[in-house]
Amino acid sequence: MQASIYLESSKEHSVLQQHPWVFAGTIDKYEGKVQIGTTVRVFSSTKKLIGRAAYSPHSQIRARMWSWDPEEPIDHAFFKRKIAAAIQHRQTWVKDTNAIRLIFGEADGIPGLVVDQYGQTLVCQFLSAGADFWKDAIVDILANLTHCVSIYERSDAAVRQREGLESRVGSLFGPSPSQEVLVTENGIDYLVDPIHGHKTGFYIDQRDNRRLVMELSQNRRVLNTFCYTGGFSLAALKGGAHEVTSVDSSGEALDIAKKQMTLNSFDVSKGLWQDRDAFDALKDFRVANESFDLIVLDPPKFAPSAAHLTNAIKAYKEINRNAMQLVAKGGLVLTFSCSGAMDSELFEKTIFSASKEAASHLKNGDLKFRVLKRLTSGLDHPKLTCFPEGDYLKGLLLERV
Ligand code: SAH
Repeated sequence: MQASIYLESSKEHSVLQQHPWVFAGTIDKYEGKVQIGTTVRVFSSTKKLIGRAAYSPHSQIRARMWSWDPEEPIDHAFFKRKIAAAIQHRQTWVKDTNAIRLIFGEADGIPGLVVDQYGQTLVCQFLSAGADFWKDAIVDILANLTHCVSIYERSDAAVRQREGLESRVGSLFGPSPSQEVLVTENGIDYLVDPIHGHKTGFYIDQRDNRRLVMELSQNRRVLNTFCYTGGFSLAALKGGAHEVTSVDSSGEALDIAKKQMTLNSFDVSKGLWQDRDAFDALKDFRVANESFDLIVLDPPKFAPSAAHLTNAIKAYKEINRNAMQLVAKGGLVLTFSCSGAMDSELFEKTIFSASKEAASHLKNGDLKFRVLKRLTSGLDHPKLTCFPEGDYLKGLLLERV
């Protein structure tokens, strides 16, 4: 008999409205032997069975809903249906690439599971106790439903600790991927290192925005800060930028970026790579009176949780203020935040206030920006109306008028 949890009447409404996270404080009562990762039956405060969830004793998110159908068992067939539906969604909506987020956790009905596809290599992160518990079934289904040659695990994200899970990396199916896997996105070849790269190796979420940069870069002098392996830099060069300066503090990421220049037969003299702190670089460009026609700011998550927001806002303001002062009239700034704890309203408020500060720091105050576009992640990162936390990447395309 599966163990059960009963929700508390004053706190249950978000779960009843299909938010997948059941916080510890929402649970009124436990029944039976609850074990890490196993399935529990979830009852409302009126003792009605509402569905099933994965139990996670160490996390504040004590359970994650698998299903709101009281009749639906959680078994191999359940995961097969979810994974097949996720793959189908990508086949419908994602074109022009073989680097695809195949499964995006909660948004695909499998909380805690991330699967990125790089050609015939899949890279997985099992980030919740429930996803980890079903790992063997998930790997078996992925191997059967995709034509992959290898499945590699990168469950080394910090969130695993909160779930009481050890970090784990290694091969799950087929041979370990060769050092770097070749993918093609928007007609550009990129090298992805699933073993040593950040997260699963590549920031797939920025695909649409890289395409936008490609479309906007003709004859522009571009600055790409926090460039990682140069995703935006290569897009800018492909789009006809006459020079691209890229900054990142990871030497390994820059090494891959440089290899890709040759791989794509780009003119290496047009790509300048700086292995350094981007905050310092932005300040130094100001001191040197540099000016750029297009600037990308895609920093790491400054606010991993709400507790970090005050410092994060300061950091976002600093880089945006400096970038705004570096962009020429008629120039563009693409600015992003991937902090889930910062919603788009707060992000925009922060950017708008950075623009006021930037103007007040200039002697003649002649600095004004227009919002041309609001930016987000691609359609392989589905967003559910009942799960706003999944909408973590936001950005603005600004034009200096
Ligand atoms: N725009 C990239 C992804 C950026 S991820 C893409 O499209 O692929 C964030 C990057 O910021 C990482 O590569 C990390 O190495 C870098 N980084 C983090 N802190 C930094 C700092 N203070 N200065 C420079 N780079 C930094």
